[in-house]
Amino acid sequence: MKHVIIGNGPAGVVAAEAIRRADRNADIVMIGDEPEPPYSRMAIPYLLVGNIQEKGTWLRKTDGHFASLNIKEVLGCAKSVDTAGRVVHMEDGSSFAYDRLLICTGSHPLKLPVPGIDSPNVHSCWTLDDARHIAAKAKKGARVLQIGAGFIGCIIMEALASRGVKLDIVEMGDRMVPRMMTSKAGGMIARWVKQKGVNVHTSARVTSIRQNGDELIATLGDGTEVVADLIIASAGVKPNVAFLQGSGIACATGILIDERCETNIPGVFAAGDVAEAVDFSTGERLVNAIQPNAVDQGRVAAMNMVGRNTRSQGTMAINVLDTLGLISASFGQWWGAEGGDSVELIDEERFRYISLQFKDDVLVGATSIGLTDHVGVLRGLIQTRTPLGSWKQRLMHDPLRVMEAYLSMAQAQSAPPLAEALH
Ligand SMILES: Cc1cc2nc3c(=O)[nH]c(=O)nc-3n(C[C@H](O)[C@H](O)[C@H](O)COP(=O)(O)OP(=O)(O)OC[C@H]3O[C@@H](n4cnc5c(N)ncnc54)[C@H](O)[C@@H]3O)c2cc1C
Repeated sequence: MKHVIIGNGPAGVVAAEAIRRADRNADIVMIGDEPEPPYSRMAIPYLLVGNIQEKGTWLRKTDGHFASLNIKEVLGCAKSVDTAGRVVHMEDGSSFAYDRLLICTGSHPLKLPVPGIDSPNVHSCWTLDDARHIAAKAKKGARVLQIGAGFIGCIIMEALASRGVKLDIVEMGDRMVPRMMTSKAGGMIARWVKQKGVNVHTSARVTSIRQNGDELIATLGDGTEVVADLIIASAGVKPNVAFLQGSGIACATGILIDERCETNIPGVFAAGDVAEAVDFSTGERLVNAIQPNAVDQGRVAAMNMVGRNTRSQGTMAINVLDTLGLISASFGQWWGAEGGDSVELIDEERFRYISLQFKDDVLVGATSIGLTDHVGVLRGLIQTRTPLGSWKQRLMHDPLRVMEAYLSMAQAQSAPPLAEALH
């Protein structure tokens, strides 16, 4: 069997290793287009904080790891896929025939349509190369403007703040993490971050950037000017699917996959940030761009590539964030279900918040701030779709009793049936 994997991030690496474990004799080719050993983007913030060196971002740290597994690594860019002929064509003219193909090409940062966005010292924070540029500029006291306060933006902000830079954040939405948390939660995070000395501009956009000697001047929609030594653009990402045009592989935002991580073309699989799977709580399609999802899908795809019929439960939105020491999380349908019920509890002073979303008596979504003990429980209840029965009303009165509800449900499930218990 010839297995070709395009992409050598977490999804690709885990898949290659899983295929090797299942089949000692398979041909495995893993293609990546960045001139780095396979690495984890989510380790970049730790690199910027200074907790790790570059090697700390590498997914596998032993020299010759992939060679020892007889996984052939190829540095190059896949240009197109001929699904009828089962061949991957590369930019450099070479090609790779396959029996099974896995596409895990991840995504790329969106380029904002703003004049001046190509100025030197305007970077995204996506690759190790970006991180090197940022580390060189974001020295203590440097003025940094970050465009975008989404999930990745907030993670980067944490790293930048630890470097002692003077930080401005411009976010188009009316709050921080607008696509990840409720209005109250996003507002609370913004208030926390402002208290920590970050200038947060919400409901604002950068309309132009101009160079002024060594500095950059960003103009916002209301005419405000922000002077910066470095601008980091973090305004969303898009799956890397352009090279699949004409291949017949069905894509919407990402590559459409079923519960086996297979595409509409038999023998062609996709996993990770590039893939669009069914969200198990909403039944709708979702690009769930987080590393645990990439790893899970990489594993499921690999098992099916070697002929072991394996199905994923579906993907689930899980976001856990540390913004300058304030831990927040959102799960599943945090925005609520149609015809469902919800409850929200806010403690503005102590930066505590919880919102629960129900469909009938099942918890389908949640948002929390400052309640780290509850994170696993909220996730567990949503993922297991546990019918809460009378606990739903209790939670509607006091959502902080969610731990009690979870324990009570878990006990009920592990208790033997009454007849059995009486014997
Ligand atoms: C700064 C930052 C912080 C993050 N923090 C977190 C976090 O805290 N928690 C979390 O869960 N997630 C986090 N993420 C997201 C996480 O990194 C991604 O979900 C994860 O990397 C997805 O893995 P992947 O294998 O699907 O794609 P990627 O890691 O993007 O790997 C895809 C690889 O394919 C290569 N490629 C693309 N196109 C081609 C082509 N045509 N030919 C050959 N190679 C190609 C790419 O260059 C890349 O090397 C963070 C991301 C960033 C940028």
